[in-house]
Amino acid sequence: MKVYHDKDIDGSILNDMTIAVLGYGSQGRAQSLNMRDSGVNVVLGLREGGNSWKRSIEDGWEPMTHLEAAQKADIVLMLMPDMAQPIVWGEEVSLAMTENKALQFAHGFNIHFGEITPPANLDVIMVAPKSPGPELRRQYEAGFGVPALVAVHQDASGKALEKALAIAKAIGSGRAGVLETTYQIETETDLFGEQAVLCGGVDHLIRAGYELLTEAGYPPESAYFEVCNELKLIVDLIYTSGIGGMYRAVSDTAKWGGLTLGPMIIDDHVKENMRKALKAVQDASFAKAWIAESKGGAKKFDELMAECDALEIEKVGREIRKMSGLEK
Ligand code: NDP
Ligand code: MG
Repeated sequence: MKVYHDKDIDGSILNDMTIAVLGYGSQGRAQSLNMRDSGVNVVLGLREGGNSWKRSIEDGWEPMTHLEAAQKADIVLMLMPDMAQPIVWGEEVSLAMTENKALQFAHGFNIHFGEITPPANLDVIMVAPKSPGPELRRQYEAGFGVPALVAVHQDASGKALEKALAIAKAIGSGRAGVLETTYQIETETDLFGEQAVLCGGVDHLIRAGYELLTEAGYPPESAYFEVCNELKLIVDLIYTSGIGGMYRAVSDTAKWGGLTLGPMIIDDHVKENMRKALKAVQDASFAKAWIAESKGGAKKFDELMAECDALEIEKVGREIRKMSGLEK
Protein backbone atom coordinates (compact mmCIF):
# COMPACT_ATOMS: atom_id res chain seq x y z
CA MET A 1 0.00 0.00 0.00
CA LYS A 2 1.19 3.53 -0.72
CA VAL A 3 1.93 5.44 2.51
CA TYR A 4 1.99 9.24 2.94
CA HIS A 5 3.39 11.27 5.84
CA ASP A 6 3.05 14.96 6.74
CA LYS A 7 6.11 15.86 4.62
CA ASP A 8 4.48 14.29 1.52
CA ILE A 9 1.21 16.21 1.94
CA ASP A 10 0.83 19.85 0.92
CA GLY A 11 -2.48 20.52 2.68
CA SER A 12 -2.75 24.14 1.47
CA ILE A 13 -5.78 23.22 -0.65
CA LEU A 14 -7.84 23.61 2.55
CA ASN A 15 -6.70 27.23 3.06
CA ASP A 16 -9.69 28.76 1.32
CA MET A 17 -12.14 25.95 1.93
CA THR A 18 -14.83 25.36 4.53
CA ILE A 19 -15.21 21.86 5.94
CA ALA A 20 -18.59 20.72 7.30
CA VAL A 21 -18.54 17.99 9.91
CA LEU A 22 -21.97 16.37 10.20
CA GLY A 23 -22.30 14.47 13.46
CA TYR A 24 -20.56 15.05 16.77
CA GLY A 25 -20.16 11.56 18.20
CA SER A 26 -17.07 9.39 18.41
CA GLN A 27 -15.49 10.48 15.09
CA GLY A 28 -17.24 13.82 14.55
CA ARG A 29 -16.08 15.39 17.81
CA ALA A 30 -12.48 14.22 17.47
CA GLN A 31 -12.10 15.09 13.79
CA SER A 32 -13.71 18.53 14.07
CA LEU A 33 -11.63 19.53 17.12
CA ASN A 34 -8.40 18.25 15.54
CA MET A 35 -9.07 20.13 12.30
CA ARG A 36 -10.00 23.31 14.19
CA ASP A 37 -6.73 23.09 16.16
CA SER A 38 -4.89 22.60 12.84
CA GLY A 39 -6.24 25.96 11.66
CA VAL A 40 -8.88 24.61 9.27
CA ASN A 41 -12.16 26.48 8.82
CA VAL A 42 -14.73 24.00 10.21
CA VAL A 43 -18.51 24.28 10.63
CA LEU A 44 -20.70 21.73 12.42
CA GLY A 45 -23.99 20.42 11.04
CA LEU A 46 -26.16 18.63 13.62
CA ARG A 47 -29.77 17.87 14.42
CA GLU A 48 -31.25 20.69 16.40
CA GLY A 49 -31.90 20.02 20.07
CA GLY A 50 -30.01 16.70 20.20
CA ASN A 51 -27.34 15.85 22.77
CA SER A 52 -24.58 16.72 20.33
CA TRP A 53 -26.07 20.15 19.75
CA LYS A 54 -25.67 20.99 23.46
CA ARG A 55 -22.27 19.32 23.83
CA SER A 56 -20.84 21.12 20.82
CA ILE A 57 -21.89 24.51 22.23
CA GLU A 58 -20.03 23.60 25.44
CA ASP A 59 -16.97 22.96 23.25
CA GLY A 60 -17.27 26.43 21.72
CA TRP A 61 -19.02 25.62 18.42
CA GLU A 62 -21.99 27.33 16.82
CA PRO A 63 -23.82 24.34 15.35
CA MET A 64 -26.23 24.68 12.42
CA THR A 65 -28.46 22.23 10.54
CA HIS A 66 -26.94 19.59 8.24
CA LEU A 67 -28.31 21.49 5.26
CA GLU A 68 -26.89 24.88 6.28
CA ALA A 69 -23.49 23.38 7.04
CA ALA A 70 -23.40 21.51 3.73
CA GLN A 71 -24.37 24.71 1.87
CA LYS A 72 -21.42 26.59 3.38
CA ALA A 73 -18.94 23.78 2.82
CA ASP A 74 -16.55 22.68 0.10
CA ILE A 75 -16.04 19.28 1.74
CA VAL A 76 -18.79 17.54 3.73
CA LEU A 77 -17.85 14.85 6.26
CA MET A 78 -20.62 12.32 6.96
CA LEU A 79 -19.86 11.37 10.57
CA MET A 80 -23.16 10.09 11.90
CA PRO A 81 -24.03 6.35 12.17
CA ASP A 82 -23.90 4.44 8.88
CA MET A 83 -27.64 3.65 9.00
CA ALA A 84 -28.53 7.36 9.45
CA GLN A 85 -26.38 8.60 6.56
CA PRO A 86 -28.70 7.75 3.62
CA ILE A 87 -31.56 9.66 5.29
CA VAL A 88 -29.46 12.75 6.07
CA TRP A 89 -28.03 12.57 2.55
CA GLY A 90 -31.45 12.29 0.90
CA GLU A 91 -33.27 14.89 2.97
CA GLU A 92 -30.60 17.54 3.41
CA VAL A 93 -27.02 17.12 2.17
CA SER A 94 -27.85 16.19 -1.42
CA LEU A 95 -29.75 19.49 -1.80
CA ALA A 96 -26.58 21.45 -1.07
CA MET A 97 -24.01 19.60 -3.18
CA THR A 98 -23.02 21.67 -6.20
CA GLU A 99 -20.37 20.78 -8.77
CA ASN A 100 -16.88 19.85 -7.55
CA LYS A 101 -17.80 19.79 -3.86
CA ALA A 102 -16.53 16.72 -2.01
CA LEU A 103 -18.51 14.21 0.00
CA GLN A 104 -16.37 12.39 2.53
CA PHE A 105 -16.94 9.26 4.63
CA ALA A 106 -14.98 7.57 7.43
CA HIS A 107 -16.19 4.11 6.35
CA GLY A 108 -17.19 2.91 2.91
CA PHE A 109 -20.45 1.10 3.75
CA ASN A 110 -23.05 3.33 2.07
CA ILE A 111 -21.06 4.05 -1.07
CA HIS A 112 -19.80 0.50 -1.53
CA PHE A 113 -23.24 -1.07 -1.05
CA GLY A 114 -24.98 1.60 -3.12
CA GLU A 115 -27.15 3.08 -0.35
CA ILE A 116 -25.90 6.53 -1.34
CA THR A 117 -25.27 7.25 -5.04
CA PRO A 118 -23.86 10.78 -5.38
CA PRO A 119 -24.06 12.52 -8.76
CA ALA A 120 -20.97 12.28 -10.98
CA ASN A 121 -20.07 15.98 -10.59
CA LEU A 122 -18.99 15.46 -6.96
CA ASP A 123 -15.76 14.14 -5.48
CA VAL A 124 -16.40 11.16 -3.22
CA ILE A 125 -13.53 10.47 -0.85
CA MET A 126 -12.75 8.61 2.34
CA VAL A 127 -10.58 9.33 5.35
CA ALA A 128 -10.87 6.46 7.82
CA PRO A 129 -8.85 6.83 11.02
CA LYS A 130 -7.93 3.43 12.41
CA SER A 131 -9.10 4.13 15.97
CA PRO A 132 -12.17 5.25 17.88
CA GLY A 133 -12.61 9.05 18.06
CA PRO A 134 -11.46 9.62 21.65
CA GLU A 135 -8.10 7.96 20.86
CA LEU A 136 -7.78 10.08 17.69
CA ARG A 137 -8.23 13.18 19.84
CA ARG A 138 -5.90 11.98 22.62
CA GLN A 139 -3.08 11.20 20.18
CA TYR A 140 -3.48 14.55 18.42
CA GLU A 141 -3.31 16.45 21.71
CA ALA A 142 -0.19 14.47 22.64
CA GLY A 143 1.47 15.63 19.40
CA PHE A 144 1.04 12.32 17.53
CA GLY A 145 -1.72 10.84 15.43
CA VAL A 146 -3.38 7.57 14.54
CA PRO A 147 -2.89 6.02 11.08
CA ALA A 148 -5.70 6.54 8.58
CA LEU A 149 -6.80 5.09 5.26
CA VAL A 150 -7.70 7.34 2.33
CA ALA A 151 -9.62 6.37 -0.80
CA VAL A 152 -11.21 8.01 -3.81
CA HIS A 153 -14.48 6.71 -5.24
CA GLN A 154 -15.15 9.62 -7.63
CA ASP A 155 -12.79 12.34 -8.78
CA ALA A 156 -14.86 15.08 -10.42
CA SER A 157 -12.58 18.01 -9.60
CA GLY A 158 -9.29 16.28 -10.37
CA LYS A 159 -8.28 17.08 -6.79
CA ALA A 160 -10.11 14.38 -4.85
CA LEU A 161 -7.00 12.64 -3.50
CA GLU A 162 -5.37 15.97 -2.62
CA LYS A 163 -8.45 16.87 -0.56
CA ALA A 164 -8.53 13.54 1.25
CA LEU A 165 -4.82 13.72 2.09
CA ALA A 166 -5.16 17.31 3.33
CA ILE A 167 -7.98 16.29 5.71
CA ALA A 168 -5.98 13.27 6.88
CA LYS A 169 -3.09 15.61 7.69
CA ALA A 170 -5.38 18.08 9.49
CA ILE A 171 -6.74 15.39 11.83
CA GLY A 172 -3.14 14.41 12.69
CA SER A 173 -2.94 11.13 10.80
CA GLY A 174 -0.02 12.27 8.63
CA ARG A 175 2.17 12.16 11.76
CA ALA A 176 1.57 8.40 11.93
CA GLY A 177 0.99 7.43 8.29
CA VAL A 178 -1.80 7.66 5.72
CA LEU A 179 -2.35 4.57 3.57
CA GLU A 180 -4.08 4.70 0.19
CA THR A 181 -6.77 2.08 -0.38
CA THR A 182 -10.13 1.63 -2.13
CA TYR A 183 -13.72 1.81 -0.91
CA GLN A 184 -14.13 -1.91 -1.59
CA ILE A 185 -11.06 -3.03 0.36
CA GLU A 186 -11.76 -0.74 3.33
CA THR A 187 -15.42 -1.75 3.57
CA GLU A 188 -14.94 -5.50 3.23
CA THR A 189 -11.91 -5.83 5.50
CA ASP A 190 -13.36 -3.49 8.15
CA LEU A 191 -16.65 -5.42 8.33
CA PHE A 192 -14.92 -8.81 8.37
CA GLY A 193 -12.45 -7.73 11.05
CA GLU A 194 -15.07 -6.39 13.43
CA GLN A 195 -17.29 -9.45 13.01
CA ALA A 196 -14.81 -12.31 12.98
CA VAL A 197 -12.00 -11.16 15.23
CA LEU A 198 -12.33 -7.80 16.97
CA CYS A 199 -15.88 -7.44 18.30
CA GLY A 200 -17.72 -10.66 17.54
CA GLY A 201 -14.78 -13.07 17.75
CA VAL A 202 -13.32 -11.72 20.98
CA ASP A 203 -16.72 -11.31 22.65
CA HIS A 204 -17.73 -14.90 22.00
CA LEU A 205 -14.29 -16.32 22.83
CA ILE A 206 -14.60 -14.65 26.25
CA ARG A 207 -18.21 -15.80 26.73
CA ALA A 208 -17.33 -19.41 25.90
CA GLY A 209 -14.30 -19.46 28.20
CA TYR A 210 -16.27 -17.89 31.05
CA GLU A 211 -19.22 -20.25 30.68
CA LEU A 212 -17.00 -23.30 30.54
CA LEU A 213 -15.05 -22.39 33.68
CA THR A 214 -18.13 -21.49 35.75
CA GLU A 215 -20.06 -24.57 34.53
CA ALA A 216 -17.06 -26.62 35.73
CA GLY A 217 -17.57 -25.13 39.20
CA TYR A 218 -14.86 -22.45 39.32
CA PRO A 219 -15.70 -19.12 41.04
CA PRO A 220 -17.04 -16.42 38.70
CA GLU A 221 -14.37 -13.96 39.88
CA SER A 222 -11.55 -16.36 38.93
CA ALA A 223 -13.19 -17.01 35.58
CA TYR A 224 -13.53 -13.27 34.90
CA PHE A 225 -9.89 -12.54 35.70
CA GLU A 226 -8.53 -15.41 33.62
CA VAL A 227 -10.59 -15.07 30.43
CA CYS A 228 -11.44 -11.35 30.35
CA ASN A 229 -9.54 -8.97 32.61
CA GLU A 230 -6.11 -10.22 31.54
CA LEU A 231 -7.01 -10.02 27.88
CA LYS A 232 -6.12 -6.33 27.94
CA LEU A 233 -2.56 -7.04 29.04
CA ILE A 234 -2.12 -9.59 26.27
CA VAL A 235 -3.63 -7.36 23.58
CA ASP A 236 -1.46 -4.43 24.72
CA LEU A 237 1.62 -6.63 24.27
CA ILE A 238 0.51 -7.73 20.79
CA TYR A 239 -0.30 -4.10 19.90
CA THR A 240 3.13 -2.78 20.88
CA SER A 241 5.41 -5.74 20.11
CA GLY A 242 3.62 -8.28 17.92
CA ILE A 243 2.52 -11.85 18.57
CA GLY A 244 6.11 -12.97 19.12
CA GLY A 245 6.70 -10.05 21.50
CA MET A 246 3.64 -11.12 23.49
CA TYR A 247 4.90 -14.71 23.71
CA ARG A 248 8.35 -13.54 24.78
CA ALA A 249 6.77 -11.57 27.66
CA VAL A 250 4.74 -14.45 29.13
CA SER A 251 6.02 -17.56 30.94
CA ASP A 252 7.45 -20.52 29.04
CA THR A 253 4.49 -22.56 30.28
CA ALA A 254 2.08 -20.01 28.77
CA LYS A 255 4.10 -20.00 25.54
CA TRP A 256 4.03 -23.79 25.22
CA GLY A 257 0.35 -24.04 26.16
CA GLY A 258 -0.68 -21.26 23.83
CA LEU A 259 1.40 -22.40 20.87
CA THR A 260 0.30 -26.04 21.08
CA LEU A 261 -3.34 -25.76 22.20
CA GLY A 262 -4.31 -22.49 20.48
CA PRO A 263 -4.66 -24.19 17.09
CA MET A 264 -6.81 -26.93 18.66
CA ILE A 265 -9.26 -24.27 19.97
CA ILE A 266 -9.27 -22.03 16.88
CA ASP A 267 -9.23 -24.91 14.40
CA ASP A 268 -10.12 -25.25 10.73
CA HIS A 269 -13.84 -25.19 11.37
CA VAL A 270 -13.51 -21.72 12.93
CA LYS A 271 -11.70 -20.60 9.78
CA GLU A 272 -14.49 -22.20 7.73
CA ASN A 273 -17.02 -20.09 9.71
CA MET A 274 -14.89 -17.02 9.06
CA ARG A 275 -14.97 -17.83 5.35
CA LYS A 276 -18.79 -17.76 5.50
CA ALA A 277 -18.70 -14.38 7.26
CA LEU A 278 -16.36 -12.99 4.61
CA LYS A 279 -18.57 -14.32 1.83
CA ALA A 280 -21.65 -12.65 3.38
CA VAL A 281 -19.72 -9.36 3.45
CA GLN A 282 -18.54 -9.78 -0.16
CA ASP A 283 -21.91 -10.79 -1.63
CA ALA A 284 -23.67 -7.97 0.31
CA SER A 285 -26.02 -10.34 2.14
CA PHE A 286 -24.71 -9.09 5.52
CA ALA A 287 -25.30 -5.46 4.48
CA LYS A 288 -28.81 -6.22 3.18
CA ALA A 289 -29.79 -8.00 6.40
CA TRP A 290 -28.40 -5.22 8.62
CA ILE A 291 -30.14 -2.51 6.59
CA ALA A 292 -33.44 -4.45 6.82
CA GLU A 293 -32.98 -4.86 10.58
CA SER A 294 -32.29 -1.15 10.99
CA LYS A 295 -35.23 -0.09 8.79
CA GLY A 296 -37.52 -2.49 10.67
CA GLY A 297 -36.90 -0.68 13.96
CA ALA A 298 -33.80 -2.62 15.12
CA LYS A 299 -35.78 -4.87 17.49
CA LYS A 300 -33.40 -7.82 17.28
CA PHE A 301 -30.47 -5.43 17.67
CA ASP A 302 -31.94 -4.04 20.92
CA GLU A 303 -32.75 -7.55 22.16
CA LEU A 304 -29.19 -8.75 21.61
CA MET A 305 -27.74 -5.74 23.42
CA ALA A 306 -30.11 -6.32 26.36
CA GLU A 307 -29.11 -10.00 26.40
CA CYS A 308 -25.46 -8.98 26.50
CA ASP A 309 -26.04 -6.55 29.40
CA ALA A 310 -27.77 -9.33 31.37
CA LEU A 311 -24.91 -11.85 31.08
CA GLU A 312 -23.49 -13.12 34.37
CA ILE A 313 -19.97 -12.17 33.28
CA GLU A 314 -21.16 -8.58 32.93
CA LYS A 315 -22.43 -8.49 36.53
CA VAL A 316 -19.28 -10.05 37.96
CA GLY A 317 -17.15 -7.85 35.75
CA ARG A 318 -18.91 -4.69 36.93
CA GLU A 319 -18.23 -5.61 40.58
CA ILE A 320 -14.57 -6.29 39.88
CA ARG A 321 -14.15 -3.13 37.84
CA LYS A 322 -15.75 -1.09 40.68
CA MET A 323 -13.44 -2.78 43.17
CA SER A 324 -10.44 -1.83 41.04
CA GLY A 325 -11.63 1.74 40.52
CA LEU A 326 -12.12 1.27 36.76
CA GLU A 327 -15.86 1.86 36.88
CA LYS A 328 -18.00 4.00 39.20
P1 NDP B 1 -21.69 8.00 16.37
O1 NDP B 1 -22.67 6.93 16.66
O2 NDP B 1 -20.72 8.34 17.47
O3 NDP B 1 -22.45 9.32 15.88
C1 NDP B 1 -23.19 10.05 16.74
C2 NDP B 1 -23.54 11.35 16.07
O4 NDP B 1 -24.47 11.12 15.02
C3 NDP B 1 -24.18 12.31 17.02
O5 NDP B 1 -23.82 13.63 16.68
C4 NDP B 1 -25.66 12.08 16.78
O6 NDP B 1 -26.44 13.21 17.06
C5 NDP B 1 -25.68 11.83 15.30
N1 NDP B 1 -26.83 11.02 14.92
C6 NDP B 1 -27.21 9.83 15.44
N2 NDP B 1 -28.30 9.36 14.81
C7 NDP B 1 -28.62 10.30 13.88
C8 NDP B 1 -29.66 10.39 12.94
N3 NDP B 1 -30.59 9.43 12.82
N4 NDP B 1 -29.70 11.47 12.14
C9 NDP B 1 -28.76 12.45 12.25
N5 NDP B 1 -27.75 12.40 13.13
C10 NDP B 1 -27.69 11.33 13.93
O7 NDP B 1 -20.89 7.64 15.03
P2 NDP B 1 -19.38 7.21 14.85
O8 NDP B 1 -18.49 8.37 15.10
O9 NDP B 1 -19.12 5.92 15.58
O10 NDP B 1 -19.36 6.84 13.30
C11 NDP B 1 -19.39 7.84 12.30
C12 NDP B 1 -18.79 7.25 11.03
O11 NDP B 1 -17.42 6.94 11.29
C13 NDP B 1 -19.43 5.94 10.59
O12 NDP B 1 -19.41 5.91 9.19
C14 NDP B 1 -18.48 4.88 11.15
O13 NDP B 1 -18.51 3.68 10.43
C15 NDP B 1 -17.15 5.59 10.98
N6 NDP B 1 -16.06 5.14 11.84
C16 NDP B 1 -16.25 5.01 13.19
C17 NDP B 1 -15.23 4.63 14.01
C18 NDP B 1 -15.41 4.55 15.48
O14 NDP B 1 -14.47 4.12 16.15
N7 NDP B 1 -16.53 4.91 16.09
C19 NDP B 1 -13.88 4.34 13.47
C20 NDP B 1 -13.75 4.63 12.05
C21 NDP B 1 -14.82 4.98 11.28
P3 NDP B 1 -27.35 13.34 18.38
O15 NDP B 1 -26.44 13.65 19.52
O16 NDP B 1 -28.28 14.42 18.04
O17 NDP B 1 -28.01 11.99 18.57
MG1 MG C 1 -15.64 -0.81 11.65
